[in-house]
Amino acid sequence: MLRAPSPALLESLRSLLGPRGFTRDAEVLAPWLSDWRSRYHGRSAALLSPASTAEVQAIVARCSAERVALVPQGGNTSMVGGATPDPDGGALLLSLRRMNSVRSVSPEDNVAVAEAGVILSDLHDAAAAAGRRFPLSLGAKGSATVGGLVSTNAGGTQVLRFGPMRSLVLGLEAVLPDGSLFEGLSALRKDNRGYDLKQLLIGAEGTLGIVTAASLKLVAAPGSRSVAWVGLGSPAAALALLRRLEARLGEAVESFELVPEDALALVLAGIPGTRAPLAGAHRWHVLVESVAPEGARDSAEALQEALAAALEEGLAEDALVAANEAQASALWRLRESIAEAERLQGPSVKHDVSVPVSAMPAFIEEARAAVEERFEGARVVAFGHLGDGNVHFNVQPPAGMAAETWLAGQAEAVTRLVHDRVGEAGGSISAEHGIGQMKLGELARTADPARLAALRAIKNALDPAGIMNPGKLIPSL
Ligand SMILES: Cc1cc2nc3c(=O)[nH]c(=O)nc-3n(C[C@H](O)[C@H](O)[C@H](O)COP(=O)(O)OP(=O)(O)OC[C@H]3O[C@@H](n4cnc5c(N)ncnc54)[C@H](O)[C@@H]3O)c2cc1C
Repeated sequence: MLRAPSPALLESLRSLLGPRGFTRDAEVLAPWLSDWRSRYHGRSAALLSPASTAEVQAIVARCSAERVALVPQGGNTSMVGGATPDPDGGALLLSLRRMNSVRSVSPEDNVAVAEAGVILSDLHDAAAAAGRRFPLSLGAKGSATVGGLVSTNAGGTQVLRFGPMRSLVLGLEAVLPDGSLFEGLSALRKDNRGYDLKQLLIGAEGTLGIVTAASLKLVAAPGSRSVAWVGLGSPAAALALLRRLEARLGEAVESFELVPEDALALVLAGIPGTRAPLAGAHRWHVLVESVAPEGARDSAEALQEALAAALEEGLAEDALVAANEAQASALWRLRESIAEAERLQGPSVKHDVSVPVSAMPAFIEEARAAVEERFEGARVVAFGHLGDGNVHFNVQPPAGMAAETWLAGQAEAVTRLVHDRVGEAGGSISAEHGIGQMKLGELARTADPARLAALRAIKNALDPAGIMNPGKLIPSL
């Protein structure tokens, strides 16, 4: 049974952490008590902001002794309410944002050791300063932190070549639910001492412990990079184009992002300073990024040639290769602003799903048709990481209808329909955002009993009192 924090516990945490690390000020707490989409709203008696691993250990040991729950939080950009505490106010909010130092960058080992609160774009800068690159990026890079990225096994726009966070974490330092320290930071490329605790913590959404630092793989900085915007007729044409570009350019293709016309229209209408990249209208668009190593032929020339061939073959309708860095950033901004443009538009039913890559074009077309047929007037915006088989399949209420009312009546049925289609295609109801609190019911409904039993057994073994991020990821019995 979890308990609310006692006045004595709060006082002991206040004196442990000092004024910079402990607050009960409602105004300071407010922005951290709801999620990025303002869908979930919680309460907490205090915000704890430790500055060191030793402080995290002391917090967890004291909370464990008193059976008080902790909700770890990084940049609070979770798309599934993973970092929002329950409304009952019994859990303490544990922010890792003050633990923001990059402890080391080793170009020889191709490894960076970063604390949990390091913001992704700061990690990019630290790697670049050493002539290296951390090859994972996403739209929330200015806020999302290393601890959050590890704990959600984040994906993003370079999974095609480098895989998700799980492929990039070499080691972890973490405080386990009893306050003990897992010292797994050593950046070994081989370590076969049985169960891999690091892999359990990756994607655990804070339910098995607090990540305090990570050793992360770096790669060589590219000699050149090029970004192109392509207009085409369908997701099937986009997949054919991807395979054609890979045949010509090989591993140089790092990103391949699918954008429907309606998502681009949302961005152009809602995000200041954006403009259409191509003159004509196209039902679908793709953003491609390719790179070339230092000393090799410029990536723009190779991409230009490959796209010209694809246009001749009829795989694409029009294409533009960015002429300079500013144009390249403007193209990326179009892609990375879709989530923000959707948020400005108002609430919708979100799905972050994956299916085998070859099944993705048919999945998008058929699921869209099924939703539009059953829910009259509903508008599907399906965009995402085509090369990873990951689509953000979002459904907006019919135009002119009160969004909240429509969602209250239809959201559950929409989600069931979409997730059932995902199941039929052999896919997953969570590709990269995790389960959080948003998908608990759907995980319980769709996961096989063996998977659920194993999840619960691991949770009970490592966190028997259930103090770590309760109400997230693990559906209750
Ligand atoms: C505009 C936008 C675009 C996005 N694009 C992508 C995308 O392309 N790909 C993608 O995968 N995600 C994407 N996301 C989702 C989000 O950015 C990722 O899930 C990210 O990894 C969350 O990091 P965070 O630091 O904000 O974590 P938070 O939101 O603070 O927390 C996320 C989860 O991790 C836990 N947690 C946080 N820190 C720790 C820690 N130190 N130890 C243990 N548990 C911890 C929390 O309890 C919570 O369960 C996007 C979000 C936004 C707003």
